[in-house]
Amino acid sequence: GALVLAGCSSRGGDSAGSDSTEGAAGFEAGSLIGVALPAKTSENWVLAGDLFTDGLTEAGFKADVQYAAAGSPVADQQAQIQSMVTKGAKVIVIGAADGGQLSTQVEAAKEAGATVIAYDRLILNTDAVDYYVAYDNYEVGELQGQALLDGMEAQKGDGPYTIELFSGSPDDANSSVFFDGAMSVLQPAIDSGDVVVGSGQTSLKQTATDGWKPENAQRRMDSLLTSTYNGDTELDGVLSPNDTLARAIITSVKGAGKDIPVVTGQDSEVESVKSIMAGEQYSTINKDTRALVTQTIDTVKALQAGDEVEVNNTDDYDNGSKVVPAFLLPPQIVTKDNAAEAYANDPTLSKLVE
Ligand code: BGC
Repeated sequence: GALVLAGCSSRGGDSAGSDSTEGAAGFEAGSLIGVALPAKTSENWVLAGDLFTDGLTEAGFKADVQYAAAGSPVADQQAQIQSMVTKGAKVIVIGAADGGQLSTQVEAAKEAGATVIAYDRLILNTDAVDYYVAYDNYEVGELQGQALLDGMEAQKGDGPYTIELFSGSPDDANSSVFFDGAMSVLQPAIDSGDVVVGSGQTSLKQTATDGWKPENAQRRMDSLLTSTYNGDTELDGVLSPNDTLARAIITSVKGAGKDIPVVTGQDSEVESVKSIMAGEQYSTINKDTRALVTQTIDTVKALQAGDEVEVNNTDDYDNGSKVVPAFLLPPQIVTKDNAAEAYANDPTLSKLVE
C-alpha cells in the first residue's frame, strides 16, 4: 500500500479552514455522471447508491450508478468505469473495490476529459484522481481506539486489559488508515503493559478481514477463542473496524459461551445500533451517508458550473503519485450514552434510540 498520510489529520490544525481549487471550464447541464461503487459490503454502500441516483437526477443530471459484483469486484468495476468513459460521463465518482487497481481506467477517464472523484476510499498510485471526498478515516480509527479503552475502563475498572485486534480488507485503502488511527491510541497502552494483545497478533496482515466478509472475522474470532481464550481466560475488548464485523465477532464470542467484551464498530448500521442499545456492541461511528453524498453532488455541481471546488485538506492524502485535494467530513463516536443525540436527525435511527 502506497498510501502515505503525511502528518495525519485530527492530528493538528493542518486541515482546518477551507480551500478551493481552480474550477475547470464546466460542462453542459444534464450531462451523464457515472458512479461506480464497490460490492455492498456494508449498509452505507446500499444507501449511497440510492442517494446518488436520486440526488443527481434531482440536480438535472443523468445518473449511471453501478455496483461491483461481490464475486469479481475488481474486474467488474474496471469494466463499469470503462463503460462510463465510453458513454461520455463528465464526472466519474468512484468508491473503489480495490483502490490500487484502477489506474488504467481512471487514466482513460482523464484522457476523455472526465473529472475523477474518489468517494470514501482513495484511489492509489495514479495522477488521474482529481478529488477525494470522505469522512476523516484516520480520525475514525482514533475514535475507535479511544472508545475501546474507555469502554474497558467503564466495564472492568482498571487494567491491565486483554484485547484482540481486527482490521478491514487489505484491498481497501481505508483499512490501513483506520488501523493506524486506532493503533496511534492503543500502542502506548500496549507499550506500557496496560493493554495486552492476547494472541500477539498486532500487524495489519495478521488482523486483516478479506473482502470485509463477516464470515472471515467470525472464523478468525472462533480460532482465537480456541487458541488463546479457553477456560476462564478473559477477553476484555476487541477492536473491530466496522459494524458488520463487530456483529460477527459478538456472534462468535456468544457461541463460545463467553461474556461479551467491549467491541467497537463503524457505520451506524441498524442491527448494530440495536445491539448497542441492548448493551452488547459497545460503540459505532456516525458517518452520515447523506452528508457525504450531498458533499459529493455539490462537487459535481461546481464542476458542471465551472466553479471552484471546495476542499479542506490539501496536505494529507498522498496516494503514491500525488497529494489528492480532499474534502473531509468529521466522524462522530456513538455509544449508548449519546445515541439519542447523535441520531436525532436520522429518521430511521432516531426511532431505535428513544
Ligand atoms: C468504509 C466503511 C465500511 C467498509 C466496508 C470502508 O471503506 O469506509 O464505512 O464499513 O468500507 O464496506
